[in-house]
Amino acid sequence: MKIRITHLFLISILFLVGCKSAQVATTSQSKIEISLAETERIISELSSDKMEGREYGTEGYNRAADWVVKYLTDSGVKPFFTAHQDTLTISGKKTANIVGLIGSRDDSKEYILLGAHLDHIGKIKSKTDSVYNGANDNASGVTAVLQLARYLQKTKPDANVIVALFTAEESGLIGAEYLARRMKKADIKIRYMLNFEMIGKTMSIGEDKVYITGFDKSDFAQVANQLLSTQFVHYLSQEVSFDLFRRSDNYPFYQVYGVPCHTISTFDFNNYNYYHELKDEVKELDLKNMNAVINTSATLVERLIQADARIK
Ligand SMILES: [Zn+2]
Repeated sequence: MKIRITHLFLISILFLVGCKSAQVATTSQSKIEISLAETERIISELSSDKMEGREYGTEGYNRAADWVVKYLTDSGVKPFFTAHQDTLTISGKKTANIVGLIGSRDDSKEYILLGAHLDHIGKIKSKTDSVYNGANDNASGVTAVLQLARYLQKTKPDANVIVALFTAEESGLIGAEYLARRMKKADIKIRYMLNFEMIGKTMSIGEDKVYITGFDKSDFAQVANQLLSTQFVHYLSQEVSFDLFRRSDNYPFYQVYGVPCHTISTFDFNNYNYYHELKDEVKELDLKNMNAVINTSATLVERLIQADARIK
């Protein structure tokens, strides 16, 4: 997510979450294990110093992309196009989105799209810590999508699901915009898109809860909470005041397709001080809660598919 830092301080004073229920989460855990150990392994790898802050066009980003491709391949997730890495050139630098497919390629039907941006802001010259590891932003979201991909590949849902890890989000949602246009041009249909962004911290309103951007643009939250029989998806007032809906990779898909496209996040402006800071590292995150959020998200996606849900 791209947010001006000065706003973060201002808005922390104005913190107001629209919590419509104090209900305790009772969501049953997914049948196939999405383990804390695996969540920790993935996010630690993606935000390690050897990935050099994953700035698009760098060796660090390419190393992270190779790791993600291997993860998808090992999980049995096929490429959506001819290869997992779908390359593009931005300002003379070659980079790639990573696009996988669960189910079969059938362009006569609608796909469900799950996404997260893989890139971050790189590194600086410093004698001490020099790498922007981007653990919360957005190794956490990529971890969710990889876990969901592996889970869905095993459970084989009755739907075709595209998983996409985007490049150059931090430079203005460039990778996602490229993919949205490319897919639209090829007449590939999307029913809805769920984008995962900064889910590494526990929301101030409690454990195993998220908010979505564009809350009022569809009935996704109501549908999701009903399918889960718990209040998992919440409203955060700052998503409107900061226009977060337009600040992450859900937005290009919304622009191009006009279907429900939401970003799922737990960063509520009150629970993390290291947005775009060197200290955005794994040790600062709440991995147990993050793993719970991924598990609930897996159950949610599974139930959305089972219910053949149409978000209005
Ligand atoms: Zn981000």
